[in-house]
Amino acid sequence: MAKQTILDVDVQGKQVLVRVDYNVPVEYVDGDPRITDDTRIRASLPTVQNLVKRGARVVLMSHLGRPKGKANPKLSLRPIADRLSYLTQTRVSFANDCVGAAAENCVNSLRDGDVLLLENLRFHPEEEKNDPSFSQQLARLGDVYVNDAFGTAHRAHASTEGVAHLIRERAIGFLMEKELHFLGEELENPARPFVVILGGAKVSDKIGVIDHLLSKADAILIGGAMAYTFYLAQGKPVGKSLVEPDRVELARKALEKAAAQGIDLLLPVDSYVVESIDFENRQTSPGRYTRPGEEIPEGWRGVDIGAATLAAMRQEIAGARTLFWNGPMGVFEIRGCDKGTFAVAEMVAENRDAVSIVGGGDSVKALHQSGLADRITFISTGGGASLEFLEGKPLPGISVIPDKVEQEANQKASPSSDEGSNVVLLPA
Ligand code: AMP
Repeated sequence: MAKQTILDVDVQGKQVLVRVDYNVPVEYVDGDPRITDDTRIRASLPTVQNLVKRGARVVLMSHLGRPKGKANPKLSLRPIADRLSYLTQTRVSFANDCVGAAAENCVNSLRDGDVLLLENLRFHPEEEKNDPSFSQQLARLGDVYVNDAFGTAHRAHASTEGVAHLIRERAIGFLMEKELHFLGEELENPARPFVVILGGAKVSDKIGVIDHLLSKADAILIGGAMAYTFYLAQGKPVGKSLVEPDRVELARKALEKAAAQGIDLLLPVDSYVVESIDFENRQTSPGRYTRPGEEIPEGWRGVDIGAATLAAMRQEIAGARTLFWNGPMGVFEIRGCDKGTFAVAEMVAENRDAVSIVGGGDSVKALHQSGLADRITFISTGGGASLEFLEGKPLPGISVIPDKVEQEANQKASPSSDEGSNVVLLPA
């Protein structure tokens, strides 16, 4: 159901507390901070600029990295305030703390259309504990609460969940709205064929998604290490490939469900195999491709998919009208083991007739590295959040925002509605 957005609330002259996701990579060179990728800051601009234009007093809050509940100057959000100021061409002030007098004084001195960024929420251990009194302190900073941080919406933290219960007017921002549109509506009623490509290391992370999408997708293509756990479920040897023995049963059930529902669950028919891999130095022993149907040799490990698998995937991907991709097809960080991932990136980008949706850090990285990101319909900003959402789990940071229809229903229930009801419901 569609959620209330910032366009559904009056923000003029109000303090609007916005949870954004500014968890961006910051490197310090000779003591100077450098933001190496500002995609997430740019992604927040439509929401921030809309609120500024409508005369809100914008109070932004985010986490950065894992400071483990302690202040850490290297994880300060101050450099992000500067970058945001540059991108918006407006002054963005900065509060040295996200709660207490430091934050409240800054918020109280805002004028209509001003923007303030609060210091890292996770400098306080109470944030991740969803501590009620910390939520109350945050709630003092806003008349309206907005969540535009999809990447953390699957966590019930003070800034994503606790505080929202304490502020009456709540809405999602434009970025969150886009995420929900593509991961929700587009994948709920997909144009067919709907083809899902899943890779990465762990079956455990994605089995819920596979299970949920088995009733929606026309084909599920599986690559990466997780494919070998499926091999085990089929009784096939896997050599030294990375597997999760305790997930074999789940993989077996997924294979059974796919067969029962007539869904193509495509596993690799050939692999690039090596005898040893050195993750630290990013190298492997010399490798070779297995022949289609050949077993993974004893003592070797599968680290990428092969050409025959790619050919089968190409056919499915090229014919799709909806594509969802999450997870690399091999150890794409190491040269020689990255061909499958980059080939899939290209296939997904090449299909311009399909709605293509890509989530998960590694797949997105592969797209950016090959300069194909702008050919994708939608790139999700949330890895774990997008998977949990696709499992059909309610995300705490979204559940706390009222549905748009509630408001519409309330309006319809006024005395002037068709039914002539005499019950007047107050807006939620
Ligand atoms: P995930 O976080 O589950 O999407 O996994 C991403 C990681 O899976 C990447 O770091 C890849 O190097 C790793 N990966 C993908 N395929 C394999 C494989 N065949 N063997 C070992 N690791 C893999």
